[in-house]
Amino acid sequence: MTATLIDGKAFAATVREKVAGHVARLKEEHGITPGLAVVLVGEDPASQVYVRSKGKQTVEVGMNSYEHKLDAGTSEADLLALIDTLNNDPAVHGILVQLPLPKHLDEDLVINAIDPAKDVDGFHISNVGLLGTGQKSMVPCTPLGCLMMLRDHHGSLSGMDAVVIGRSNIVGKPMAQLLLGDSCTVTIAHSRTKDLADVVRRADIVVAAVGRPEMVPGDWIKPGATVIDVGINRIDAPEKGEGKTRLVGDCHFDSCAAVAGAITPVPGGVGPMTIACLLANTVTACCRANGLTEPE
Ligand code: NDP
Repeated sequence: MTATLIDGKAFAATVREKVAGHVARLKEEHGITPGLAVVLVGEDPASQVYVRSKGKQTVEVGMNSYEHKLDAGTSEADLLALIDTLNNDPAVHGILVQLPLPKHLDEDLVINAIDPAKDVDGFHISNVGLLGTGQKSMVPCTPLGCLMMLRDHHGSLSGMDAVVIGRSNIVGKPMAQLLLGDSCTVTIAHSRTKDLADVVRRADIVVAAVGRPEMVPGDWIKPGATVIDVGINRIDAPEKGEGKTRLVGDCHFDSCAAVAGAITPVPGGVGPMTIACLLANTVTACCRANGLTEPE
């Protein structure tokens, strides 16, 4: 391996430490405890793990965590009523509705019912518009975590060629907006992109957010490029024993690491940064709600 490993786990720990410092100051100087409400509908096992982890880390940095677990058959009206209650609760500064929602619920309708000022996931249409027009917004946590790691590694990203593979509303598109905001020349690739390998080979920065295990091989990577692997894919790992599995990213780690200048591992890269950014966004929302200077 020649690439520098971008250690998202360690970086996330420093972000959480800063968040804990801001939370302590908010309590001491203003008597305010930031609060994050997480709403989970149904029993999707991966979502349950994420929600548990978010709740635990929220409490660890000194904030209040409010978990609302609703059963899979919850009606849209009941979910909207809960969101309305949370929108009007002054102890709640951030609201996150864990996605995906069960099929009978309209995700867009539900997300757009959240008060944009409390939309710490940054998925509300107002925040999407603000981000797209370069205005102050709530920035989606996963792309924000990627951007923080890129800035930390490179300093300025100005003029770099960036390729984002994936155009979802939660990762690919906001990632592209953030890179554009940092003056990269941005290409968004997707399932219909022709000659993906050639497109990726031009990139100084590759962000892979596809959801296909080890899809990007090392020979697509320009020597010295930075690879940010957002993908989290569980695959069989017979070498670990019968029925065992392991997590891999969207990039083939060993071959990419042999060519890249820097790379994030999976696990331990983008994943931990996502939750750290959620906590940071909650502090930001709390400061804005109380007219206080927000952390940088
Ligand atoms: P989506 O399924 O919503 O989007 C996947 C994107 O990849 C689509 O735009 C799709 O293109 C594109 N795509 C699919 N196949 C190909 C292909 N063969 N070549 C090029 N592009 C392709 O996924 P998400 O954005 O929600 O998530 C992507 C990955 O990131 C997943 O593995 C997910 O688990 C992970 N993730 C990780 C997070 C973290 O905290 N680390 C947080 C969120 C997601 P098209 O639009 O044309 O269909």
